[in-house]
Amino acid sequence: MIVARTREGLGQGLADLHGRGSVGFVPTMGNLHDGHLSLVDLALDEADVVVVSIFVNPLQFAPSEDLEAYPRTEERDLALLEERRVDLTFLPSVDSMYPDGEPVVTVDPGPLENALCGPYRPGHFRGVLTVVARFFGLLRPDLAVFGRKDYQQLVLVRRMVRDLELGVRVVEGPVVREADGLAMSSRNAYLSEEERSQAPAIYEALEEARRRVEAGERSAVELLRGVHARIGREARMRVQYAEIVNGESLRPVERAGEGTVAAVAAFCGSTRLIDNAELV
Ligand code: AMP
Repeated sequence: MIVARTREGLGQGLADLHGRGSVGFVPTMGNLHDGHLSLVDLALDEADVVVVSIFVNPLQFAPSEDLEAYPRTEERDLALLEERRVDLTFLPSVDSMYPDGEPVVTVDPGPLENALCGPYRPGHFRGVLTVVARFFGLLRPDLAVFGRKDYQQLVLVRRMVRDLELGVRVVEGPVVREADGLAMSSRNAYLSEEERSQAPAIYEALEEARRRVEAGERSAVELLRGVHARIGREARMRVQYAEIVNGESLRPVERAGEGTVAAVAAFCGSTRLIDNAELV
């Protein structure tokens, strides 16, 4: 596996891999878990050459967020990717990613920023789209893989690719979960034992909503009442938002139906967790 830490190293690595066929790209912030690795496996299935990036992108963290504390486990990550037979891992420093400082021209997420996590994380999606666009420019991948775990991010990346004609095929991977249903996340490491035992309530609440839809309940108000009630049973948890939205526009719907998604953000202690489920 080629390991590149600079733009020059990346250019050299890509040149070495040139001619081997289609390039699949998996962007990550590292601290890899089975969720990330499932995306790597998808890329290995779908592309001839697989490039993974590990970059904790300061642009997508608000000053109050966990940029400094974000878990960094480079050696272990590289070993996992090597084992998977990834072709190239790109781990740029902030300076090599942004040699001219913060980009002046950035990608505006438009009205999709007003949905779900957007209002609670000002600037986050602009930072995500800007770094993804920059990676696409540096790597020119044929396809890129994103997880449904970060549903709004997936929708926004799809929309950016479409609206800006970036010519990258976006492949999505399903949410990978722990045995008790908790969606895998690097941030799960922040949970105390007590919090960890309560955190699966988000998944259970979403599952219950899905089952109720299957049984005929369609009222968003009614379904969300159930979601709040289930998570509200846990002493360490507090719902930030629970919404049922159209899966593309991310606008709230009154009735769950084809293509609607239930999405939740909840604090478990001081750790913010997100999850979502397709309802039909
Ligand atoms: P991150 O390192 O958190 O930026 O995530 C990198 C990619 O992995 C994103 O496309 C995420 O949506 C995806 N991802 C993170 N956690 C999971 C999970 N539990 N299941 C599937 N994909 C995930």
